[in-house]
Formats: sequence, structure tokens, C-alpha cells
Amino acid sequence: MTMLEACVSQFSLTVDAADTIQALVGSSDHPWGRRLHDALKFATYAECVYAVEPYARVELADFRPDAPKYPDVADRSVSGVLGELQAAGYVDTRDVLQEDAGQTYLSEGRTVTAVHVVRPFALVGVDYRFSREANSRAIRYGHAYADRWEITERAYTVPAGWYLVGETGDFTAALVGVAGISGDSDDLLCSLFEIEGFGASTCLAGCGSCGMRWSAESGSWHFRPDDCDADAWDFDDAADVDDESGTVECPACATGRVGFSIS
Ligand SMILES: [Zn+2]
Ligand SMILES: [Zn+2]
Repeated sequence: MTMLEACVSQFSLTVDAADTIQALVGSSDHPWGRRLHDALKFATYAECVYAVEPYARVELADFRPDAPKYPDVADRSVSGVLGELQAAGYVDTRDVLQEDAGQTYLSEGRTVTAVHVVRPFALVGVDYRFSREANSRAIRYGHAYADRWEITERAYTVPAGWYLVGETGDFTAALVGVAGISGDSDDLLCSLFEIEGFGASTCLAGCGSCGMRWSAESGSWHFRPDDCDADAWDFDDAADVDDESGTVECPACATGRVGFSIS
């Protein structure tokens, strides 16, 4: 079983939420998650990004600012981009998991969204420029009044199929990674929690000297003996917390160090 190293300090016992998303990405069934990841990154930082059919022969005239032939899917947020792609008929999306850090050992909240790419697509970035005359109109009406534009970047084709998009953050969401999966199912949520290193709900503690072991569940700091006759203890009461090594003084033998791992 893959365990993630815990971040230990006097007032926290957590696992990096981004590491749990990386565990999800590592369990991918196919490698195209990288393509969707790159496409989403592109569409969240560029100003105007159009979704096109793969291998479409696009020309500059297709991106006339007043009448672009293709849907502009750029947005500040991943959910915004997915909404635009959905409106354009390229994807279907479904919320799978929306979890805050409470009741878990997560360092911050995380979300997982299932994305069904119904039609493959590629993205084309267009940079609009303005002559001085157009500029005054642009200030009032946006890029529709640009009079010069160029194609600046293209993203590789995102193949049709199923994906899980993972983001972290409590108030704003940051894209961490995308896993390619073989298909949708009703128990997508269950299978998420079967991925090694994704759970963030169990914390194991063990002493290297006396060999005593404990475990705690659901974000709790109360450690119960794990198949041994040690006493239970609380992380709040731990002595000599060392955030460098991520260990505390062993409450059983007092000479050894207790380390933590989270899954
Ligand atoms: Zn669908
Ligand atoms: Zn010990």
C-alpha cells in the first residue's frame, strides 16, 4: 500500500492535498490526461482560446474578432473553461468529489470532476491587437474591435474519452492534474478512495525503537493502539515535535521517535 508522508508540526498533521491528486493521476488508465491538463492550463491563462475540430485547417479570417467561427472557451477558472466546452458540445462534466479539509488529513480542500470528452478537440490561441483608432473602441467594447490578430499557439488534440480533473484549494481552485480513465461508472467516487495514497483519511503512527503502532481516522488526532498493547494518546499532547523529520517523541518508550504516514 502506498502511503504518503505526513507533514508534521506542532499544530498540524496533514498530507499535501496536491500529492493526493498526483496519486490519482498516477493511477491513470490512459495517458491522454496530460493533453486535457495542458489544454485546460492554456485556456485559463490565454486571453482568447478557440476550440476547433482536430486537424481543422484554420485560417486567420476564421478568428475575425467581431465574428469568430469557433467558440471562445477561455476563462480564468477550469470550471469556466469546462462550462464553455460543454456549451460548445465537446464535453459533459459531472462533479464527483468536493471535499474540504475537515474530517480528513488534507492540507486544503480538493475537488475531482469527471469529464467526458464527447468530441475530440484542439485549442487555438489568438492574440488581438489594436490600431490607435481601434484602441479607443476596444477600451469600451473589448477585443471585438481589434483590427489585427494572429494565431499564437495551438494545443494538441484532446482525444474523446473519460477524464478526472483534480484541483485543490479552499476558496479558489488550482488545477493539479488530470487522470485518463477507462469509463464512467456510478461508483466513481468509491473507486477514487480505492486509489492508493488518495484517501487522506487514515493516519498510521509507529515507533522505530519499541515497534509500537497506532492509527487514527478521519482527521482525528486521537491515536489508538494498532494490534499492540500500547496506550492510546493524542497528537496535541505529543512531546518534542520535530517538523524537520516529521516525528514526535514516542509516548510508549519515550526514547524512540514516532513517524507518521497517511493514506
Ligand atoms: Zn457524456
Ligand atoms: Zn517507542
